[in-house]
Amino acid sequence: MTGRFAPSPTGDLHVGNLRTAVASWLDARTAAGEWLVRFEDLDAAVARRETGVDQLRALAALGMEPDAPPLWQSDVVERYDEAIDRLVEQDALYQCFCSRREIRAAVAAAAQAPNGPAGAPYPGTCSELTSAERSRRAEDRPPALRFRSHGAEVTVVDHNSGHHSFVVDDFVVRRNDGVAAYNLVVVVDDSAQGVTSIVRADDLLSSAARQMLVADALALGEFRYAHVPLVVNSDGERLTKRDGAMTLPQVAERGWSADRVLTWLAASMGLADADEPVDMATLLERWPDRPSVTEWHNTWLPPS
Ligand code: GLU
Repeated sequence: MTGRFAPSPTGDLHVGNLRTAVASWLDARTAAGEWLVRFEDLDAAVARRETGVDQLRALAALGMEPDAPPLWQSDVVERYDEAIDRLVEQDALYQCFCSRREIRAAVAAAAQAPNGPAGAPYPGTCSELTSAERSRRAEDRPPALRFRSHGAEVTVVDHNSGHHSFVVDDFVVRRNDGVAAYNLVVVVDDSAQGVTSIVRADDLLSSAARQMLVADALALGEFRYAHVPLVVNSDGERLTKRDGAMTLPQVAERGWSADRVLTWLAASMGLADADEPVDMATLLERWPDRPSVTEWHNTWLPPS
């Protein structure tokens, strides 16, 4: 059993990231497994090594150390190129020349768009281009590569919340700037690192369906998924910088130590009382008897 935490090193970890890290650590350690950290730093415009190092420091402050040196995705990009080559050989990908704006327009034109334009599935605009059309469009912009999903319906079996079926759209595996995309690299790395159990926030539940298609096409096996709720603000929305104090350095300014934060995280998962000092060893003892994720408290109110 091997678990992992895979942050993007683009800013200090906030209480939501930290809670996911704690849950993944407890999940792996309960099974006496290893726990790894992987930095999703392929987007060179926003990812910083120093930020990743700060993130490791925050994890250590709560009592979590990875069992191997962290993996930086930017160090292993050949791995992703090889995986893409294999998918190309299988004819599993196609070139997509759509700009974001074109995709939005196509989705809006399809009046039945279920999720509204932002989360809407790619409508397949470029899926049947002829080679002449591709050559012409390549003169204007380089293509992204999309995985041909054939409208597959995939059922994700989640250890925390049961079965969820998704119709998978044709998703991007390589962006048009040549950078390998999240849904590809996550699968390639989880397999390469020997990860067996994926604990992460439930905003990625539907992505698991895409990732299962990639794993299947590359014969990388199956993973156990256990998605956990996002920590939200008092309006029930995902945390953003506007929500104020939510990282260890920020709450320290308001007198909260890392231990105090760990108590909040533990209490939010039903593993401790609201003002009870705890450490990771104590939480590990309690984890097997934790309440279901539906009973977790997910609202972060910054200390005043
Ligand atoms: N980097 C993603 C995030 O911070 C997590 C990816 C994953 O766990 O698969 O939300």
